[in-house]
Amino acid sequence: MYSVEIMQSLLSNLEAVRQRVAVAARDCGRPAEAVRLLAVSKTFPALDVQTIAQGGQIDFGENYIQEGVEKIVTLKHTNSLLVWHCIGPIQSNKTKLAAENFDWVHSIDRLKIAQRLSEQRPSGLQPLQVCLQVNVDGGATKSGVAPDEVLALAQAVMQLPQLQLRGLMTIPEPAVTFELQLQLHQQTKKLFDELKSQLSLEAFDTLSMGMTADLEAAIHAGATMVRVGTALFGQRDAV
Ligand SMILES: *Cc1c(COP(=O)(O)O)cnc(C)c1O
Repeated sequence: MYSVEIMQSLLSNLEAVRQRVAVAARDCGRPAEAVRLLAVSKTFPALDVQTIAQGGQIDFGENYIQEGVEKIVTLKHTNSLLVWHCIGPIQSNKTKLAAENFDWVHSIDRLKIAQRLSEQRPSGLQPLQVCLQVNVDGGATKSGVAPDEVLALAQAVMQLPQLQLRGLMTIPEPAVTFELQLQLHQQTKKLFDELKSQLSLEAFDTLSMGMTADLEAAIHAGATMVRVGTALFGQRDAV
């Protein structure tokens, strides 16, 4: 049984996160509408997504393609206006599933994956909206293209007919203080601005950074999309 208590707590989480975004934007003189909230629903059931969607949330993010597609298919008929973002690493054997089902992919870090996504994006759908994932702090274990390789990758991705390059995504190492978080996010913002002028691409308007722990710092640095899981859906079980 899906309880009224669960629904109410999800909706009050949504309200609290919206408030955090609005306050952070106000504190740095940006309009709240300049920051799009991406609700990261990985590990949580389609019913939770539906509840958050009833609160007016449109954008949802998933890490695991198979899991995401199951929710997309489940909710297609009741919630056809939802926009689905793939934010996790993509293996070659999953590109087709991603290209056919998601609206956005934030986690492109090599050309081969981008090429496959473009080839496999059905022609009846609008181009897949994509961000390049950049490894700004050089974390050795992390995915993401190195900052000095991002221009070349962006120029190549721009040529792909079924992709629309929208911006950058980053997942910095967790930093404990606001100041440290801000520094990392500002590095990404600087890279984003440089690229935007080098590419002169109007649609390059998305800086996807900031999660539950650091969304305020990300917004201060200029994030246009924050990806929030825990603060909306609750603690995830350890995987
Ligand atoms: C899980 C995840 C998030 C959300 O993280 P929270 O800390 O739960 O808000 C955001 N971005 C990516 C890429 C993730 O994998």
